[in-house]
Amino acid sequence: MSANTLRNPSVAIIGAGMTGILAAIKLREAGIDDIVVLEKADELGGTWRENTYPGVACDVPSHMYTYSFRGNPEWSHRFARGAEIHTYFKQVAQEYGVDQQIRFGEALERCHHVDGQWQLHTSKGAELTVDFVVAATGILHHPAYPDIEGLDRYQGEMWHTARWNHDVDLAGKRVGIIGTGSTACQVIGNIAERCGQLTIFQRTPQWIVDVPDQQYTEKDKAGLRGRQDKLSALSRRYAMALRNTFSKAVTGKKIPLALMSWAAKRNLRKSVRDPELRAKLTPDYPVGCKRLIINSTFYEAVQRDNVLLETAGIERIEEGGVVTADGQLHEVDVLILATGFSPFNFMRPMDLRGRDGVSIDQVWERKVQAYRSVCLPGFPNFFLMLGPNTPIGNYSVIAMSEVQTNYVLKLIDQWRAGKLDQVEATEEAKQRFNDYLREGMGNTVWVGGCQSWYLDADGDPAMWPYSWKQWVKELEEPDLDDFRKAA
Ligand code: NAP
Repeated sequence: MSANTLRNPSVAIIGAGMTGILAAIKLREAGIDDIVVLEKADELGGTWRENTYPGVACDVPSHMYTYSFRGNPEWSHRFARGAEIHTYFKQVAQEYGVDQQIRFGEALERCHHVDGQWQLHTSKGAELTVDFVVAATGILHHPAYPDIEGLDRYQGEMWHTARWNHDVDLAGKRVGIIGTGSTACQVIGNIAERCGQLTIFQRTPQWIVDVPDQQYTEKDKAGLRGRQDKLSALSRRYAMALRNTFSKAVTGKKIPLALMSWAAKRNLRKSVRDPELRAKLTPDYPVGCKRLIINSTFYEAVQRDNVLLETAGIERIEEGGVVTADGQLHEVDVLILATGFSPFNFMRPMDLRGRDGVSIDQVWERKVQAYRSVCLPGFPNFFLMLGPNTPIGNYSVIAMSEVQTNYVLKLIDQWRAGKLDQVEATEEAKQRFNDYLREGMGNTVWVGGCQSWYLDADGDPAMWPYSWKQWVKELEEPDLDDFRKAA
């Protein structure tokens, strides 16, 4: 079929973060121009717009954390800072004209599949009808607030790391921070020096590896300007290194896992001299079970005289501070919640109803699953970006989104060529895919006995348990036998 006989679909993309921008660029490149991007905030950038906490940076090497088609010679460090990543996405959206297609300050509230199309209702009261919906709403987007008695009674300043209050100056203040994940480690390394006293409330210690954070010089940057070939080569080099180390280690390959364990244990041994403190910081679960933290500032900060690592466990919170299980009240002026995110919401809360009026909350009531992370039986012509079991972890989510976007485009091509009107994976295919995932999980480190945001309510990891190569292969071509046939 020639290009001018192809049907031209209308597509709504939910969210103008990294994946939403990518989807818009790729759809336009494929000749699909009837696109609207609905963004509830007043600015694009997703996680990099929302996370502005001190020390925010990406722990995936910057030259790998870019779109493959648009490298960035301007990165300041091996691990790019949050603000410069945000700038990068704004620049790319502008260069590719995507910013013109974004409707800012307009959230998608209702999304119903009616008579073969999607009927949308936005927070501004607009009604839209489209052929396809792409949910590019991110994973780590909904802050998780800890369920601790008395949290609402606390009288000092309190905020979640994803909602940082920049109006409060921490200099000289008594600050408490709950959590010791990737976010907390970055925050602690950055603020410890300026706080009067910093108390870290650690529930579970974490494994940390230190990868040197090289600063790029003007000369380095100049050598990369206008050289997409060099930028791509750099990106490929980092990607290969990560695949051969982290990705293999977490999916159970013995030698990479042993090396990763060695690196994390050595880092702790070398960085923390006091045996008592070291014991407090030593996890009792295998390296990689929780997401491995890449950080070079936390161990130094935790050994400062004005920093206390409190491991007694939080009993309750009172007006003036945090009471630990040993009965001690830790008075703090500011309480920072570095308690992570609810990763199983995806596009919810949203009144999303598929074929026959089935709601997403009903479908996901027992288990959050999808077909190849992208498709949902019962929800034709609806695609998830970074959906359940995308191989997140210590790898670039941009690379993952690019693979998923190509897959989605191939499915939309079926519609454009008139081969399918309703692109909908079957329930049986979804089940088979999830059985296949379950078979692989036993080999992974995520089932190593720790608690983490990777695990769903049943304790099953929402991760990809096989190799990156295998994942790319799965998404290379749609298997049309897994989709409902035209009626
Ligand atoms: P997280 O890894 O889920 O860590 C949450 C922390 O809060 C944990 O230490 C947890 O303790 C603690 N916590 C939660 N509820 C608690 C409670 N009721 N009482 C005491 N402690 C509680 O969250 P995160 O640090 O925000 O990181 C989430 C993910 O964001 C990372 O894994 C990563 O994927 C991404 N991230 C990436 C970067 C980057 O550089 N690319 C930076 C930051 C974040 P337990 O361990 O005991 O549950």
